[in-house]
Amino acid sequence: TPSKEGKMFIKALFDYNPNEDKAIPCKEAGLSFKKGDILQIMSQDDATWWQAKHEGDANPRAGLIPSKHFQERRLALRRPEILVQPLKVSNRKSSGFRRSFRLSRKDKKTNKSMYECKKSDQYDTADVPTYEEVTPYRRQTNEKYRLVVLVGPVGVGLNELKRKLLISDTQHYGVTVPHTTRAKRSQESDGVEYIFISKHLFETDVQNNKFIEYGEYKNNYYGTSIDSVRSVLAKNKVCLLDVQPHTVKHLRTLEFKPYVIFIKPPSIERLRETRKNAKIISSRDDQSAAKPFTEEDFQEMIKSAQIMESQYGHLFDKIIINDDLTMAFNELKTTFDKLETETHWVPVSWLH
Ligand code: 5GP
Repeated sequence: TPSKEGKMFIKALFDYNPNEDKAIPCKEAGLSFKKGDILQIMSQDDATWWQAKHEGDANPRAGLIPSKHFQERRLALRRPEILVQPLKVSNRKSSGFRRSFRLSRKDKKTNKSMYECKKSDQYDTADVPTYEEVTPYRRQTNEKYRLVVLVGPVGVGLNELKRKLLISDTQHYGVTVPHTTRAKRSQESDGVEYIFISKHLFETDVQNNKFIEYGEYKNNYYGTSIDSVRSVLAKNKVCLLDVQPHTVKHLRTLEFKPYVIFIKPPSIERLRETRKNAKIISSRDDQSAAKPFTEEDFQEMIKSAQIMESQYGHLFDKIIINDDLTMAFNELKTTFDKLETETHWVPVSWLH
């Protein structure tokens, strides 16, 4: 029931088991929850222990959960590496997209060098996922569709699922057209395969935070702009976007209201069975680079999925396991139908 006036709801961004919490005054009084659960706050009178219950739980008895402040503090103290500030602090909040291009595919690995230790105990709460205040949201018929972001490890079948969805209803689903600085080939048209621009303009656009992500390939730049997402949504289509998970937090704005779907591999045994005759395309969109999956590809896929889930799992709205492709596709389709018709929990900041 979405008329929840005066009530406060939060989405848990971590798993919590009171039996493993040494700090809780009484383990029996604790409320256990999983990442992604929606909790209703019953009392915040105590600064350290809030009282909450699971949303929709008929049982009126509330349990203890660590308060946001308390949880943030103890998590930050446990992970000293986050007690730091980015070098360019002043750019951080004002231009949300800045980090996204700095951490684009190429310089992802050098991420660390951007940070500098500070002696104060300041920390960026965005890096300590605890709770997020949420509210029910249902798309109105005259409203733009939400951006749907697909993330997953290389080889999991994300592109195949995206392609199936696109051809299932080309009027309804759309994808962004990337920018490139390479020369247009004779069979290509500007604005179809790519938007062709000069290196100078590309660099200026990068400086002006116009890109969600960009990369370099054979001495040319390629990238997806924020405006390309806007133009898909402006055509009254659902925009499908696949990006590296680190870019997701910059897309989480009122304008895009992104719904994030994680495409997850099944067990290694199921990967061996289901991908026996399949091919892996490790370089994006480059069909000629396809070759049969190796055992290392499977292991790499599972490892990469685990890292994504542990680092960015709190940003995922839905996890779909791509075991059997047809079943995964049907689940994806159902998810999209529900997204357009049903009420979902979104951050309160998106409705202001
Ligand atoms: P081509 O020039 O053959 O059309 O594409 C070459 C390569 O450009 C692709 O295989 C892919 O690696 C890269 N590419 C295409 N679009 C994008 C994009 O939007 N962002 C990034 N980072 N790379 C892209």
